[in-house]
Amino acid sequence: AAKAAGRGKHCFYEAAMHSEATDRQRLEHDLRLALERQEMFVAYQPIVLAAGEEISGFEALVRWNHPARGMISPDKFIGIAEECGMIGKIGEFVLRSAVGEAAHWPEHVRIAVNLSPIQFNDPHITDTIAAVLSDYGFRPERLELEITEGVFLADSDATDGTFARLKSLGVRLALDDFGTGYSSLGYLKKAPFDKIKIDQSFVRGAASTTKRNGAIIRAIVTLADSLDMDTTAEGVETHDDLFLIRELGVSQVQGYIFGKPMTGEEARKLANSSRVEAEGFQCIREPRQ
Ligand code: C2E
Ligand code: MG
Ligand code: MG
Ligand code: MG
Repeated sequence: AAKAAGRGKHCFYEAAMHSEATDRQRLEHDLRLALERQEMFVAYQPIVLAAGEEISGFEALVRWNHPARGMISPDKFIGIAEECGMIGKIGEFVLRSAVGEAAHWPEHVRIAVNLSPIQFNDPHITDTIAAVLSDYGFRPERLELEITEGVFLADSDATDGTFARLKSLGVRLALDDFGTGYSSLGYLKKAPFDKIKIDQSFVRGAASTTKRNGAIIRAIVTLADSLDMDTTAEGVETHDDLFLIRELGVSQVQGYIFGKPMTGEEARKLANSSRVEAEGFQCIREPRQ
């Protein structure tokens, strides 16, 4: 009986593993076709100056509207795209869409685009970015590339070279999700970042939970200030957190309180309005859900 049960269990695991594998394979297969089937689009989330409720820019966030499964989160498919060699194409699609859209915004409004470590390590990345900027006549200072610590895992001479070329192109660089990885201060010393994005895990609920989150945010702000870098707090959802973030001297705020990721059309309207109010956008919904 024990053996039978054991075998049954074994079969169950095998079946589960099998369905997981085919599920992943199916997703990978669909992902390969997603761009040409025009299932992907870019959503834009406002980044607001902490002091004055003025739009500083928008972050471009890729969306995949799967014909059968509906919206699939980038957290689910970016990793697959990286493993399967598709991130380059997807990343270039996001960059081109985002710069093309931002070209319609007022000059002071920036666009931030996430750059996967794999894109960063592509020897042609600077040429690709330069080509997109020139196609739209877009000033490089208006483009901010969001980079995670993952880029520092690769060969450091090549990494240094890429940073130098991106800097000489004139684009801005932001260190994304700061505080979640190794957060080595060596990275801040080495790489020419213009901004640190403080990860949501320190920000969300900072006013109501432990004082430690506030202390960590304060320390990051002090560090960034002395290195002449901006700071953005990600994931601000409540007035209490917004109040605290302002008090701590963070320069910019990004979070549902000022708007969820929205369509290009909605972003264009918002970019052209002079002020944005906290929770003033109740009508904003995740695009096409
Ligand atoms: P990220 O770059 O840190 O982007 C911020 C994420 O936090 C976005 O999730 C955004 O919708 C979410 N967020 C912003 N404010 C709030 C808030 O107040 N509350 C909550 N609960 N969430 C908030 P999203 O769009 O699902 O993207 C997740 C991650 O996927 C991104 O994290 C980024 O790492 C990756 N990603 C998205 N688009 C791209 C892309 O075009 N290229 C690459 N390489 N990665 C991307
Ligand atoms: Mg980002
Ligand atoms: Mg982030
Ligand atoms: Mg993130």
